[in-house]
Amino acid sequence: MTSTLPSSIPSLSITPDSAPLPISLRIRERLDAAGVAYLANDNIADHLRDGELEQLEIEVAGKVRELLRSLVIDIDKDHNTEETAERVARMYLHEVFKGRYHEQPKIASFPNVKKLDEIYTVGPITVRSACSHHLVPILGNCWIGIKPGDRVIGLSKFSRVADWVFSRPHIQEEAVMILADEIERLCEPQGLAILVKAQHYCMKWRGVKEPQTSMVNSVVRGDFRIDPSLKAEFFELVKQQECMLST
Ligand SMILES: [Zn+2]
Repeated sequence: MTSTLPSSIPSLSITPDSAPLPISLRIRERLDAAGVAYLANDNIADHLRDGELEQLEIEVAGKVRELLRSLVIDIDKDHNTEETAERVARMYLHEVFKGRYHEQPKIASFPNVKKLDEIYTVGPITVRSACSHHLVPILGNCWIGIKPGDRVIGLSKFSRVADWVFSRPHIQEEAVMILADEIERLCEPQGLAILVKAQHYCMKWRGVKEPQTSMVNSVVRGDFRIDPSLKAEFFELVKQQECMLST
């Protein structure tokens, strides 16, 4: 006896209500499959395909619209919030969190032909971020100290890379480490020191509401780590640059 299959087997792939998967889910599935981390302060630009950022902007705007509705704001009647969802989506993806979705600005490095090995500092560089815990601003200043190695980059490039790294949701300690990694990758200095002094709006605007509190942290690598006099020189130069600001 041979069994016969029923002549019509319902196909699983055709479901009348099958909607395309949200773009964010497709991207997350791709990142998971590749074993790539996508924490709040990771950059995922290499894993986005053409046109996906635009699709993401539409999806995020839809979610922000729902958030406003959940906050019981009548976005259909309120002319002030009518287009807030679109503005917020654009702001997150292309401005304040652009360091997640956009590639690092092109930064060329050059050979250190004169074999410069004196330290120099650049700062203050304005840094703007948002805390990962509350998504409210972190605003501050950053100083970078370099003891050059075989390659050098232009002074303005430090601002560009700092802006790109900080334009993600962060905690300050990790932001400084990520910035240090990027600068080391760009110009392989013999020594690198970074100091960041920032105000956190999750402490100023909400919570304990301490308007004057700031957080200061630093990282020292290479020669700055092994030579205490070099490290002291960096902090002294930063102090001088700060004094110049207040005069
Ligand atoms: Zn916070």
